[in-house]
Amino acid sequence: MDYEAVIGLEIHTQLNSETKMFCSCPNRPGDEPNRNTCPICLWMPGTIPKFSDQVLEKATLAAMALNCEIQKHNAFDQKVYYYPDLPKGFQLSQFHKPLAKNGWLEIMTEDGVPKKIGIRQVHMEEDVAKLIHETEGRTPISLVDFNRAGTPLIEIVSEPDIRSPYEAMEYIKALRTQIRYVGSADCSMEQGTMRVDANISIRPKGSDQFNTKVEVKNMNSIHNVGDAIAYEINRQMGRLSAGESIVLHTRLWDPEKSITAPMRGKFEGPCIPDPSVPQIVISDEWLENIRSQLPEMPGRKVERFVREYGLPHDEGVLMSMEKDLSEYFEAVVQEGISPRTAVHWIASQLMPAMRERNQTLSNTPVSSDRLTELIAMLERDEINAKSAKDVMLKLFETDERPDVIVKKYGFKQVSDMNELEVLVDTILSANPDAVDDFKNGVAKAMGFLIGQAMQASQGKANPKLIRDILMTKLG
Ligand code: ADP
Ligand code: ZN
Ligand code: MG
Repeated sequence: MDYEAVIGLEIHTQLNSETKMFCSCPNRPGDEPNRNTCPICLWMPGTIPKFSDQVLEKATLAAMALNCEIQKHNAFDQKVYYYPDLPKGFQLSQFHKPLAKNGWLEIMTEDGVPKKIGIRQVHMEEDVAKLIHETEGRTPISLVDFNRAGTPLIEIVSEPDIRSPYEAMEYIKALRTQIRYVGSADCSMEQGTMRVDANISIRPKGSDQFNTKVEVKNMNSIHNVGDAIAYEINRQMGRLSAGESIVLHTRLWDPEKSITAPMRGKFEGPCIPDPSVPQIVISDEWLENIRSQLPEMPGRKVERFVREYGLPHDEGVLMSMEKDLSEYFEAVVQEGISPRTAVHWIASQLMPAMRERNQTLSNTPVSSDRLTELIAMLERDEINAKSAKDVMLKLFETDERPDVIVKKYGFKQVSDMNELEVLVDTILSANPDAVDDFKNGVAKAMGFLIGQAMQASQGKANPKLIRDILMTKLG
């Protein structure tokens, strides 16, 4: 039997607001445990939560970035369950009246076909505290850190429109790009600011029924999500072909063993309207104000980069995937560097060097104006391509301007004809075999001779001039 997978993702993303959701404690879960707490977020009886405007703004921007319809009336519910990281016995979440509904994201399938993945809803939810299990010492103990308690999350629930591990990974990447663009969240699975739960079922290919699904949690990279889904699809196919049935339950991904293992039956507690946080009523005026804060989104930006700068589509996509990268690129181009050259330098020189040094555009010392100056020197033939790469590496080590570095370390290109002719003469007399080869029509001998001259000049000779002189001298 041929099966197809049916996949829906539930994604929790931590909003990067200044404060927690219902109090003025800092939203910094990683600080020294229990520093960022107050009676409200310690969930003391009798305290009254005060909903943060900034959280609503960031959540709304994110929902707009996901093409959702914002619900003018939305409200919080109490999702009831008891756990040591939730001592008040319920989590404030939105169930009956979510913030936003009916969104979508477009992805490319593995066949290169555009496909829309539906987003059922986006709702706000407070995070719970964090348990820290200490196993050292005589008795294992568990501690509770309330820094995370009451920090703001949005949960993004997709429709079961995803059909493969690849589509799931593309969907997560698209979602991350959109939400980062509006500046609402960092969306890093590695850092734990984005957590993905995957719901997976299988059915005979061509069928439109929805079968019993299994939920998989605990993946800590986008790649893990793809692997976990692929594993789970195979596991379910194995069970069905063995005549067994699929039971609704939750499984955990084990990244060491690359398998999923059963965790628990699926539990849902009651969800009842919360009386302590007022209903949220959104006015047209407020909504328009938020909409006006939306930046040019990546889809539009790609089109503009292709149209205005003549970039091939894939380079346009590359330069607009992250907002700060697109701004860096445009800053270089606006200083007069040709767009293709800018892409080349940013994508194949700067980014790999930054990655090696664990830097990002926000903390690299190679600012756009320093890179621009460097490329401009190359374009003016003051340095050659090889030296330009060396100068760029120096930009990481000092804060001197590129022209200072070129002078100080002697990177200046040698274009003096007399000097170059002397150099070429030396190379010719030292390599009579190559000269003969060239005269007998072995074209690659030319490359060899240029290489020798470049080496003798320690990479500083102007290779174009070297070639010209060689051509003249060899007739
Ligand atoms: P539950 O009530 O169990 O939480 P929901 O209907 O709320 O289930 O859906 C939760 C997530 O599971 C959504 O992302 C949805 O797209 C996905 N989902 C729903 N039904 C299926 C199915 N049969 N197979 C795979 N995923 C599904
Ligand atoms: Zn607090
Ligand atoms: Mg549900």
